[in-house]
Amino acid sequence: MLNLILPSNLDALREILDEDPEFLLDVAAMVNCLGTCRLCERRFVPITPLVESLEPLYGDFKGLHALLRHNPYISLSEAICGFCHADPGLLNMFQKMKKL
Ligand SMILES: [Zn+2]
Repeated sequence: MLNLILPSNLDALREILDEDPEFLLDVAAMVNCLGTCRLCERRFVPITPLVESLEPLYGDFKGLHALLRHNPYISLSEAICGFCHADPGLLNMFQKMKKL
């Protein structure tokens, strides 16, 4: 199923993502690892489960990780999107709110 929409090598995948970064959201939806940011409710993709899902297809964990981490929809966190994760001010506010 996955190999119907995904190219068979990483270079081709990189080209698709360069043209259309949102393509990653479709892939994540198919492998069921799309997240919703707890701060801004934006849809995003936590990198670890996605890389683990795609690894069997490409057999290159490091290459996938390096390729995907630059996508704007990717986050290193599983709860907060990359946009909020990159904004320490917002993150601090969120942590303060949780303490209240
Ligand atoms: Zn967010």
